[in-house]
Amino acid sequence: MRIVLLGPPGAGKGTQAQIIAGTLGVPAISTGDIFRANVSGQTELGKKVKTFLDAGNLVPDEITVAMVKDRLAEADAEGGFLLDGFPRSIPQAEQLRDSLGELGHKLDRVVELVVEEDELVRRLSGRRMIVDGKEVQRDDDKPETVRHRLSVYREQTAPVAGFYEGEGLLARVDAIGEIDEVTSRVLAALGVEGGGEAGQPAAV
Ligand code: AMP
Repeated sequence: MRIVLLGPPGAGKGTQAQIIAGTLGVPAISTGDIFRANVSGQTELGKKVKTFLDAGNLVPDEITVAMVKDRLAEADAEGGFLLDGFPRSIPQAEQLRDSLGELGHKLDRVVELVVEEDELVRRLSGRRMIVDGKEVQRDDDKPETVRHRLSVYREQTAPVAGFYEGEGLLARVDAIGEIDEVTSRVLAALGVEGGGEAGQPAAV
């Protein structure tokens, strides 16, 4: 299956992407994770994108799209993938459609995780990662950057859901609840066995 997981920062995309991709046996491809790995590895790409990540702004499309194209050309993504954090703008969505089209592929489903903004701010301010055994806050999870990332989402990424709705690919899933409840809803929206709830996209 070729799937896109959409949703604002703090909706639980990363967590759900890992679980769902594991269940489906496809790679979870997170553009945010790839960028962060390059920043901490101080690669050329990392040096180019660091300021965008630190400010909570989108990395320019030409960098992001080229990186995703390369990643999707790897052997493990041939039979399917789950994209987490991409596309994040209408031009990215159009370029993804064109790149897949060139390979004779298309997306099967797009799932949007829906969480109201107050809850996102609460989750992001409390979010910590473990790095070298220590609990640290992501630089872009600091309160002022969180607000900015949410406005970037509202302005540039939220329209991507409408784009996929127009293509008949979108399922909106309520992402409030326990992790396994949300997983069940996503699997149901994908029409996958074990989805628990009805095989219809969950209404929000
Ligand atoms: P995430 O881990 O998905 O929240 O992404 C962290 C940061 O990486 C974002 O705030 C952006 O700076 C950058 N980023 C991730 N995915 C994209 C994308 N598809 N387009 C542009 N920038 C991205």
